[in-house]
Amino acid sequence: MSNAPSVLVIGGGSTGCGIVRDLAMRGLDVTLVEKGNLTHGTTGRMHGLLHSGGRYAVSDQSSARECIAENRVLRRIATHCVEMTGGLFVQRPEDTDEYFERKLEGCRECGIPAEVLSAEEAREIEPHLAADIERAIRVPDGAVDPFRLCVANAADAVDHGARVETHAEVTDVLVEDGEVVGVEVEHAAGEGPFVHGEAGEREEIYADHVINATGAWAGQIGEMAGVDVAVRPSKGVMTIMNVRQVDTVINRCKPKGDADIVVPHETTCILGTTDVEVDDPEDYPEEGWEVDLMIDTLSELVPMLSEARTIRSFWGVRPLYEPPEVGSDDPTDITRDFFLLDHDDRDDLPGLTSIVGGKLTTYRLMAERIADHVCDRLGVDAECRTAEEPLPGSEDFSVLRDWMDEFGLRSPVGRRSAERLGSRIDEVIGEWDGPNPTVCECEAVTRAEIHDAIDGAGSELNAVRLRTRASMGNCQGAFCCHRMANELVPEYDEAVARDALDDLYQERWTGERHALWGQQLSQAMLKHLLHATTMNRDADPAASDEPVDFGAFDAGPGTVSTADDGRESGVTTDDAVADGGTSGGSDADS
Ligand SMILES: Cc1cc2nc3c(=O)[nH]c(=O)nc-3n(C[C@H](O)[C@H](O)[C@H](O)COP(=O)(O)OP(=O)(O)OC[C@H]3O[C@@H](n4cnc5c(N)ncnc54)[C@H](O)[C@@H]3O)c2cc1C
Repeated sequence: MSNAPSVLVIGGGSTGCGIVRDLAMRGLDVTLVEKGNLTHGTTGRMHGLLHSGGRYAVSDQSSARECIAENRVLRRIATHCVEMTGGLFVQRPEDTDEYFERKLEGCRECGIPAEVLSAEEAREIEPHLAADIERAIRVPDGAVDPFRLCVANAADAVDHGARVETHAEVTDVLVEDGEVVGVEVEHAAGEGPFVHGEAGEREEIYADHVINATGAWAGQIGEMAGVDVAVRPSKGVMTIMNVRQVDTVINRCKPKGDADIVVPHETTCILGTTDVEVDDPEDYPEEGWEVDLMIDTLSELVPMLSEARTIRSFWGVRPLYEPPEVGSDDPTDITRDFFLLDHDDRDDLPGLTSIVGGKLTTYRLMAERIADHVCDRLGVDAECRTAEEPLPGSEDFSVLRDWMDEFGLRSPVGRRSAERLGSRIDEVIGEWDGPNPTVCECEAVTRAEIHDAIDGAGSELNAVRLRTRASMGNCQGAFCCHRMANELVPEYDEAVARDALDDLYQERWTGERHALWGQQLSQAMLKHLLHATTMNRDADPAASDEPVDFGAFDAGPGTVSTADDGRESGVTTDDAVADGGTSGGSDADS
């Protein structure tokens, strides 16, 4: 047991993961609790843009300056989570020269490298830009993988002695004598080293200080503590295209508006977004018009998007915060800045601080600010080191390339593994003993990586997916979900593997249903047939206590089958075959 002051962080998004790493590196005794898995909230449902700050260079220059500073830091400490694609702010004929000049000027005022390109120069970089675009400003935007980033922060925190607890929901904030002293959590079922309690079990965790880093949910935690934290959750849609139609982040050079950005991300492009205020961060309409708007409007910048295949859409909720005195009606007017709410000063409630607003790009800075604040409150004198110390796996990439050559891993598969694993590639691929086939072709993920993720995340295949990207590519898991489940055996028993497979399929299905037209409908149908018919996962005989009526399979169409006990099942064999012979005329295939 350490004598260091203890801090409890609520929320396992980018902000919470950044905070737990920062405090653990300063030597504090830190625990993080997250109700789902890491990235369960907004962090797992965002665009993946590593802002250069260009986006805010006119409207919010302090955010723009923070973005370019943190952009440089993340390129240094998180190379394996960042792809420096570069970005273009593209002017169409209907966009004004005046705004273009203000954007350029704003970038220069904020220290963001910005270069004007003619239409021809822009098309040399991005051949699929619309023929009528007039010119562009080039900025250092990039793409960032939020999943890898959070896992790397949490892993480093654990290495520095932190406790990370996923599937642990805060159900109450404990207040004694007018001071916050800890929280009550309810544990949920889940596998892996970061799940410690039994499902339904409650635990009180005491700490010297509690940090509310729950983003769009911060108001709910505030309510439990009896203080008002007025977050204004605002939803935005993102639509994923089947391939990288562009290799550079494409922004529309006009004032704020819906559907104005395309972010190349791994093997795909992500179109976005909308900005609509919602009451509940977990329950809001996901509307078809939002998806249509993305494709229609962004095709004006990149025409081939109108013909391309979309593979899924998903929504996220911005944790926007507006200081009480401001009161804007339009969510797009609310600042993207972050705010530290010291509930002692603000509400006369010591022991609790909230951090709200901000962006993923500035997560580390947010963590540094709140860690400084908490250390100050607890009388700890320790410097922040997160801007200098690389995250696990992030050292110099050229070293990796040499290592790849040494081991003959020059294929695209090897390169993708090296990009994902960074400096951990030696440990993960180099030390893998045995055949290393590709488990997920779309994302080029090999068995060694899947096992590394299982070692870290346990049998929860959704967590394995987030760590490796397996099942996140073009086929959306049609051809690899069952292979991933197969890798769980024999370490986990068959029932666990089957449940994990079903959970993964269900998760992949959410989001795909918004893209079901044309070729994507065929792809989804193929996946359904593989899952439901070939693998019997809609009514798995092995999972049922009922005897399987094998006779039903062979009697031929249109006949009535007879069960083993001589009773007529009253179901035609067509139906029986459709549900795997386990049910008597149910709608198992619906
Ligand atoms: C549509 C959209 C696009 C965006 N695009 C970008 C972008 O391209 N670049 C960028 O930099 N930023 C972007 N952002 C902003 C960025 O995603 C967020 O600012 C950031 O992810 C917020 O992280 P967070 O950790 O503060 O919140 P979250 O990621 O939401 O984390 C909060 C966590 O708290 C947990 N939690 C809630 N209640 C409890 C409880 N009772 N007990 C335990 N845990 C609890 C939640 O499960 C959640 O995981 C975008 C946001 C949206 C909505």
